[in-house]
Amino acid sequence: MNFLPLIEAKREGTPLPEEQLRAAIAAFTAGQIPDYQMAAFLMAVFFRGLNTDETRALTLAMRDSGEVLTFPEDPRPLVDKHSTGGVGDKVSLPLAPLLACLGFRVPMVSGRGLGITGGTLDKLESIPGFTTQLTPGQIVEQVQRIGVAMAGQTGTMIPADKKLYALRDVTGTVPSIPLITASILSKKLAEGLHALIMDVKFGAAAFMQTRDQARELAKSIVTLARECGVNTRALLTDMATPLGRAAGNWLEVKEAVLCLEGHGPDDLQELVIACAAHLLVQTGKCRDIAVAQHLALNCLASRTPRRKFDELVAAQGGDLEAFKHRLTLDHTASVVLELRSDDDGFVSRCDARLVGEIVRDLGGGRMTKEAAINPDVGIDQLAKPGERVGEGSVLAHIHATDRVSAEAALERLRHAFELSDELPPIPPLIQEVVE
Ligand code: URA
Repeated sequence: MNFLPLIEAKREGTPLPEEQLRAAIAAFTAGQIPDYQMAAFLMAVFFRGLNTDETRALTLAMRDSGEVLTFPEDPRPLVDKHSTGGVGDKVSLPLAPLLACLGFRVPMVSGRGLGITGGTLDKLESIPGFTTQLTPGQIVEQVQRIGVAMAGQTGTMIPADKKLYALRDVTGTVPSIPLITASILSKKLAEGLHALIMDVKFGAAAFMQTRDQARELAKSIVTLARECGVNTRALLTDMATPLGRAAGNWLEVKEAVLCLEGHGPDDLQELVIACAAHLLVQTGKCRDIAVAQHLALNCLASRTPRRKFDELVAAQGGDLEAFKHRLTLDHTASVVLELRSDDDGFVSRCDARLVGEIVRDLGGGRMTKEAAINPDVGIDQLAKPGERVGEGSVLAHIHATDRVSAEAALERLRHAFELSDELPPIPPLIQEVVE
């Protein structure tokens, strides 16, 4: 394929026809377009944008670059949730089994963490024996059998996104709304979903820095997903503060299990219940969001989702005895230090970006896609904005591999907190719903 005319057309801002975009994605996936040409094209898209027809064509071409999941007829709707990524964001872990217990099928294909944002696959792999490498056939079989599978993108699903994302990552072309829309939706459409709930985060620790940018991305995703037959809504959520009280892979699994056992934390439970309730309404299982929330809360309180999580762990090779034992341990990292407050007052800030950077630097996150991570390190028992602390109260625990890195983290973490004399205004976690 001669790709040069497409690069030139996009450079001049000329819209491209569907067949040409489709041919380009097929050729790039097959290795027939060199990276330098695709990089130039991506940069042209970054500056010129894509119209809605082009974004749809690109998304569908990317979806069709590999295998698409196909499920047998079944009264249980196929649903999923996707987050644009944040610090302490372990919502998928309690949500997926909850949705399975609410009568949905959940073929959740997730990603790994990069930079300061964690990834569901890394968290799950901190469970002894748990594998996230399932074939499309295994995902379908497990979802039909137990209602849920949580796996990584396989080599045969959406290969175009894998190649394009790697290139965008090194050419400064990630933050483009049409490219993000196509990347996320190509993966979600390959799951064969009926309904999708998006969690679009904004703030210093998120992809989208402002609520306006988050709304623009949310609208782009919701509109296109609906055109493609997937009933989609997006929650715009505040990412100024880490979600929950823990950030770091195993520490987040522990907190997700607490949530499944009805012990919060409040913000995590609020988001899990909101996602489940919206999906109940989107799929017509409930007419009213308040009733749907009640249903989801009752289901969580029944502990069936907790048992479903164990069923999921066992189905994906996890060692349940070792998992249960690990859950009883206070910590699995070699060194734990406490950060204590020098003063008394109300916590007015706990900086999610700084917390994310510290966890990453402790070894809990990666700088490059290939880097290995340490599942045991991180930060937990974080004090939350609005909480009153006294001099000497614990603000957080740091879990590290050695004393030197723990002490360095302790010094940095001090700056993540601010105290005030008066109770600060606490912004709502879910600030808007885009339908
Ligand atoms: N997440 C994705 O999967 N793709 C993007 O382009 C950005 C965030």
